[in-house]
Amino acid sequence: MNPTSTAHVAIAGAGLLGRLTAWRLTRAGYKIDLYEAGSLTDSSSAAISAAGMLSPLSEAVVSDYQVYRMGLHSLVLWPQWLEALGRQAPRHFHRHGSLVVAHPQDEGELLQFEADLTRVVGARNELVRHLSAQQIQTLEPDLNPHFKRALLLENEAHLDNRELMQSLLDYCRNSAEIRLFEHTKVDVGPHTVTELNPLKKRNYDWVIDCRGVGAKTQQPALRGVRGETLHVQTSEVKLQRPVRLMHPRYQLYIVPKPNQRYIIGATQIESEDTSPISLQSSLELSSALYTLAPAFAESRIVETDSNLRPAYMDNLPKVEFDHGIIRANGLYRHGYLLAPTITELVLTAFGQPATSDEFFPFVYDHRIPHNKVNV
Ligand SMILES: Cc1cc2nc3c(=O)[nH]c(=O)nc-3n(C[C@H](O)[C@H](O)[C@H](O)COP(=O)(O)OP(=O)(O)OC[C@H]3O[C@@H](n4cnc5c(N)ncnc54)[C@H](O)[C@@H]3O)c2cc1C
Repeated sequence: MNPTSTAHVAIAGAGLLGRLTAWRLTRAGYKIDLYEAGSLTDSSSAAISAAGMLSPLSEAVVSDYQVYRMGLHSLVLWPQWLEALGRQAPRHFHRHGSLVVAHPQDEGELLQFEADLTRVVGARNELVRHLSAQQIQTLEPDLNPHFKRALLLENEAHLDNRELMQSLLDYCRNSAEIRLFEHTKVDVGPHTVTELNPLKKRNYDWVIDCRGVGAKTQQPALRGVRGETLHVQTSEVKLQRPVRLMHPRYQLYIVPKPNQRYIIGATQIESEDTSPISLQSSLELSSALYTLAPAFAESRIVETDSNLRPAYMDNLPKVEFDHGIIRANGLYRHGYLLAPTITELVLTAFGQPATSDEFFPFVYDHRIPHNKVNV
């Protein structure tokens, strides 16, 4: 039976999925208790560390066709959802595409990227434009002029993830339908949330587990995949869109942010170490950045960061329905790309129709005996 809007719902984890789900459910008339282990304003979620790229094509190369399709669907939903957030919506959401480049000596890497892309998504030439050196300079005059070729992935976008997280937090704080429990680490079970310090159990009609890597204590199949980033600030370089640098040893991305800031990342390390960025990573990121646009030399490093992306072994997201509990996790390195679609799938348990039925295979309904997959 679908829950009614009088049902009392708990959400564990106020990261990306937790905040989005709380917002969408209160719009549908539900009352929410939202639990967060850490600070809400100074969140340590992966959502705060992310670069905010919405890049279905670039991600297809390292994931698979379903992630690509889900990303395309989310790209349709994001503008509608940001509009629905109204005055609180982040202003930094841009659809200028993204640029993929390689230094002249590494042009084979660019060809490899294109071949991988074609293998996963087919020859979708209408979404990929080949640029000459002159066209690159016209689009991004501050890039190193030695780039001879680039790919422009026209349908890709980026948003300021921190602005979005703040917008959703403002919504949650102002909503009479949401009670926020900050610095409250919880375990979850069917119909129950257990605060761990001090122990206290509360009952709900529904519990939604959005704890990201934090759910690993109860879901051993989850793992964290470490990512490291540098944040620099400069008035010397003006990039309009994310740029990916294909390199034989690492692939660097740089994403423009408000206030002349850029976030640079590359490393994806199979480790659950949450210690600060290593010297080697910081050297590699800085030197790659300098070769991308030498004017970055005078930029200031204003932040370094490292965090864990929540992933299952197959690196695919998963939504699980069971009696009194829903789990949504495994958004890995494309949480922003997938979040609206995954949130829609979660909301189908509450009788809210999804705008596409293509992604139901990502839902595992344990309430149906012998038929785990599909709602
Ligand atoms: C360096 C880096 C760069 C990235 N770049 C991008 C990008 O460009 N584009 C993109 O689409 N994705 C990107 N991602 C991935 C994206 O950030 C994640 O996929 C996404 O944040 C996952 O969302 P989530 O809500 O599942 O988890 P999170 O955002 O991590 O939120 C989980 C929340 O649960 C809380 N929590 C944990 N345990 C408990 C507990 N026991 N009780 C209560 N609360 C708990 C945590 O404190 C946290 O606030 C990046 C990630 C990293 C690390």
